[in-house]
Amino acid sequence: MKNIFALAAILFTLNSLAQPYALGEDKYIKEFYNISLSEQQAYKWLDHLCNEIGPRPAGSLNAEQAVSWAEEELKKLDLDSVWLQEVDVPHWVRGTETAKVKEFVKEYELAVTALGGSVGTPADGIFAEVVEVTSFDDLEKLGEDKIKGKIVFYNIPMDPTNISTGFSYGQAGRQRWAGAMEASKFGAVAVLTRSLTLKPDNYPHTGSMSYGDAKVKIPAAALGIQSADFLHEKLQQNKGLKIELVLGCRSLERTTSYNVIGEIKGSEKPEEVVVVGGHLDSWDLGTGAQDDGAGSVQSMEVLYLFKKMNYKPKRTHRVVLFMNEEFGLDGAKAYAQYTKDNNINHVIALESDGGSGTPRGFSIDANMATVEAIREYKPLLSPFGLHEYTKGGSGADINQLKSENTILIGYRPDNQRYFDYHHAYTDRFEIINARELELGAAGMAALLYLLDKYEMKPIH
Ligand SMILES: [Zn+2]
Repeated sequence: MKNIFALAAILFTLNSLAQPYALGEDKYIKEFYNISLSEQQAYKWLDHLCNEIGPRPAGSLNAEQAVSWAEEELKKLDLDSVWLQEVDVPHWVRGTETAKVKEFVKEYELAVTALGGSVGTPADGIFAEVVEVTSFDDLEKLGEDKIKGKIVFYNIPMDPTNISTGFSYGQAGRQRWAGAMEASKFGAVAVLTRSLTLKPDNYPHTGSMSYGDAKVKIPAAALGIQSADFLHEKLQQNKGLKIELVLGCRSLERTTSYNVIGEIKGSEKPEEVVVVGGHLDSWDLGTGAQDDGAGSVQSMEVLYLFKKMNYKPKRTHRVVLFMNEEFGLDGAKAYAQYTKDNNINHVIALESDGGSGTPRGFSIDANMATVEAIREYKPLLSPFGLHEYTKGGSGADINQLKSENTILIGYRPDNQRYFDYHHAYTDRFEIINARELELGAAGMAALLYLLDKYEMKPIH
């Protein structure tokens, strides 16, 4: 018995040391890039999605147009099937929004935008004193005495010293998603939060927020960071400063929307499914070019490239364009439920929702053995800028598919500019570089091609 184990160990070692792909693969993979860089199919799709359809908040008419458009475009690819999956989504609308500092006879306008899901103010607004905090501890220290009846201004900047902007976003993010909930417990009448961005312009950045267990729902809005700095300065001179805040946002009835799904059936293992996706919805201020129009069209292009190269995958490859990632992950949850109900075996899921920057690599949510196995493709992919194969998170939508049997992968472009535009008016087609976008699409196709052709089993 001992010998058999020893032999197995040797074979395993040899196998893992051997080059995990055949000679000539570099040329084949280059062809994915040749097609994407010369045809720019993803870029053309994104132009249409942003400029002809526009912003796509869940529940909006634009979101429905985007669903129909994506379904039509996928049908043109001659896939084995294309279908829509029903998703129940919220429908929140913005309305007018203003914030004015009123100081004696003077008035100063601030750049403001409601956070997604916020209740509105009365039609004639809220007029109240402002109290600034730079942490949640500050809030506790001030207590009900100093907060009741006032507008809490969270002025917590993203840390510029982290190399990962996503990390800084996570650190500063609580003011946006929990600021209103926490301030309302001390009797605040509204909250203003510093926008989650590192770009020193004055476009306010929206994003989802939650009232959690709050008994009273108070309006919540973000300030552009120049406006936040201005307000901070003003408060140094005049502690009793008042603001008039008008937010016309409100929630309408929930409505039905859809995930858009298309697939190529696997030639050898059709019951094993590989998902590639992004989210089709976006915030309403810009046109959702990088978040996540980019990931949607890159995912569509993966199947486009497989068809174009006449590659017939062994496993079923399915593009899923999720609805409403931004405001509750409804599409992702509906898809995960459908997966469970139908016992679908997802072996790999890859999401692109990190923007459209220049490619860096992939973040892999699996055990170290899997991460190391994927790293063996690095010599083939690093000439295309895909150097990083880290163990970590993947994407919010596919995270709903997390299980023992599924390798989750997030495509990782460079993120230095991502939060400059994230959830703001400036997230528009003009900020997209066609080559960066296309390199991403080809890189995603190349990785999935390698994982399919060389049959890497999920190692968990
Ligand atoms: Zn996104």
